[in-house]
Amino acid sequence: MDRPTYSFVIPLYNEAETLPELYRQLTHLFEALEGEVELILVDDGSHDRSLEILRSLQSRDARVRYVSLGRNFGHQIALSAGLQFVTGKAIIVMDADLQDPPEVVLKLIEKWQEGYEVVYAQRISRSQESWLKRGLAFGFYRLLQQLSDVNIPADTGDFCLMDEAVVAVLTHMPERNRYIRGLRAWVGFRQIAVPFDRPGRYAGSVKYTFRKSFGLALNSILGFSKVPLRLSTYLGLFSAGFAGLMMALTLYWRIFQTSTSAHRLEGFTLITIAIFFLGAVQLICMGILGEYIGRIYEEVKGRPLYTVRELGGIPKDRGSLPS
Ligand code: UDP
Ligand code: MG
Repeated sequence: MDRPTYSFVIPLYNEAETLPELYRQLTHLFEALEGEVELILVDDGSHDRSLEILRSLQSRDARVRYVSLGRNFGHQIALSAGLQFVTGKAIIVMDADLQDPPEVVLKLIEKWQEGYEVVYAQRISRSQESWLKRGLAFGFYRLLQQLSDVNIPADTGDFCLMDEAVVAVLTHMPERNRYIRGLRAWVGFRQIAVPFDRPGRYAGSVKYTFRKSFGLALNSILGFSKVPLRLSTYLGLFSAGFAGLMMALTLYWRIFQTSTSAHRLEGFTLITIAIFFLGAVQLICMGILGEYIGRIYEEVKGRPLYTVRELGGIPKDRGSLPS
């Protein structure tokens, strides 16, 4: 078989309820595409019927391939795993829950044909999501833009099309803390946004728990910004300035003691506040340092990014386990 033009990569975790519909809509989309297609589904350690469904899809349709990971490694790692196995010229990354509408893919492909190497879908609205999630996402993306050294476009998820050249760079990045949207922006090349309206989930519950989302947000900031480290310096400078001011005030009141101000800066309360304040500043700074050091520790251990338990429709020698 010829090398496919399009590779679809879809990580999924317990998506048995949406898989049949996802497959139905995708095959419909494939009919509209010119050129060969492959569909790489990454089972991120699901414990529902997802893997069974993948096996049966693969036995019926040669375009379907799957990678089943040894356990739940998280969406970003599952996606990285999928990217290792693609053979297409344009790689399309989507979620399994149909929140990334297949019809938008046609617009992504149009831009790729115009010569863009990264075409990312940008959410202009998220009508179906709770106001809390929308609010947090809005705030987070803007904060990240302020802090990050790379220009990571706001309101973009992993839904995108990447040229094989970009994917080749991504798959050769050894880092463990993978915030793919950030890495994708870091790569550069010619990039463009395609706006779309993000619908709700087709079925099932959100697999990105609040904890996972928070972890992703933290990873993205720590992975793409050194501002938190500088925060220690700023806090230190602020405390030093504050202490200097207090010293000057005390001295002033000592020398020009007036009856009302004499006892203002004395006593237990003041000392307690000062101790707690400095203690807090130090703990915050240590915590920030700890987050970075913890990540260095993760990197130097050099464990593989993921383990593979089962491959379907993919030759064993294709795709390499990152070393
Ligand atoms: N997902 C995954 N591993 C996880 C969590 C989620 O592969 O540990 C997949 C999930 O099946 C879906 C995509 O990541 O295809 C996005 O997850 P979800 O829809 O739950 O989160 P959202 O991005 O909509 O908040
Ligand atoms: Mg979703």
